[in-house]
Amino acid sequence: MAEMKAKPTEPVMVFQWHITDQCDQRCTHCYIFGENPCKTLYSAPFDRMKEVVDRCMAYTARRHFRLQFAISGGDPLLNPDFWQLAEYLKQNDIPYAIMGNPFHLTQAVCDRLYTLGCTDYQVSIDGLRDTHDRMRRPGSFDATWACLPLLHKAGITSHVMSTVSHLNLWEIPDVIDLAVQHGVGVYGFARYVPTGPDKKNAIRPTEYRAFLDACYQKYRKYRAEGCLTQFAEKEHLFVLYKYEEGLVRIPKDAKPGVLYDGCHIGLPGAILPDGTLLACRRTAGSEIGSVFDDDFPDEEGLCQKRRLAYRALDKYEDCSKCRLSQWCRGCHAVARGQSGDFFARDPQCWHIVEADEAAKA
Ligand code: SF4
Ligand code: SF4
Repeated sequence: MAEMKAKPTEPVMVFQWHITDQCDQRCTHCYIFGENPCKTLYSAPFDRMKEVVDRCMAYTARRHFRLQFAISGGDPLLNPDFWQLAEYLKQNDIPYAIMGNPFHLTQAVCDRLYTLGCTDYQVSIDGLRDTHDRMRRPGSFDATWACLPLLHKAGITSHVMSTVSHLNLWEIPDVIDLAVQHGVGVYGFARYVPTGPDKKNAIRPTEYRAFLDACYQKYRKYRAEGCLTQFAEKEHLFVLYKYEEGLVRIPKDAKPGVLYDGCHIGLPGAILPDGTLLACRRTAGSEIGSVFDDDFPDEEGLCQKRRLAYRALDKYEDCSKCRLSQWCRGCHAVARGQSGDFFARDPQCWHIVEADEAAKA
């Protein structure tokens, strides 16, 4: 008798998996080179990638999750064994998204990706043409928009993602308009995480609130018009914004200490080309083990303990005192990048937590 497949109702676990450091761009905000400008570039060979897939299949099966991958790099298509990996994922019926560059996408490549189970392809737009090309590489802005019809024709959902800092903040509302005009499937943004001592994200908290308001008003307008582009509210500070605007409320039956939503650090984390597991790809120094460790699938293992340490609410300097902590927690990758301390206050959070402390006392 054949084994039954995982039921579609089972929850999904997505591993963000970086399979190569190779890339055509050298973005100013890239984690690979921000952490080590002299890094030796590495692409995982097929036999190691097959082992990662097998180990992640065992990990998710044991926990009754359906496995998916968000495959990234560098540019995943630059891993010489990428197509062998795609064939293997297809054989095992594992859907995957790709987060990559536009430069190697042709219609034939997009059609082949779709045939081999790629459901979504994410590219980046980091401002209007001059700003984007300055941060990434000349011509990148136009090449990125130009790849979208190829993905759509193949049946792949396009995602456009922006990395937001003080350098491009007020260009993002125009980028949202462009995303809609180009028929993007999903649009979202996340904050720039400073990757070195000379780098910073100098957005002031009140300015960030005004920015979220401008973006949310655009989302609201487009949704009301029946726009087909979906807007991913990846920024957890949208919770604070919507709470203040009366758009969301705290459920009466919320259980103390349960993390219902917000920062997903450690759930399950990211895998680097050499198998290193990070609690969060955007958080420097968040190594919790390796996917090749014997105790990787073990609920009681060291990897699991390190993972959970990032989710201990009482360690968070301000969030631990905030009434929204079970749904928000901001982004502490940015806190870590700015101050060196992961659990320090989110530098763009404008919430005054003293009132919450007083209410709890
Ligand atoms: S203090 Fe933390 S949980 Fe509260 S709004 Fe700010 S980032 Fe979110
Ligand atoms: S620390 Fe920031 S980037 Fe990392 S999982 Fe949490 S919200 Fe996402």
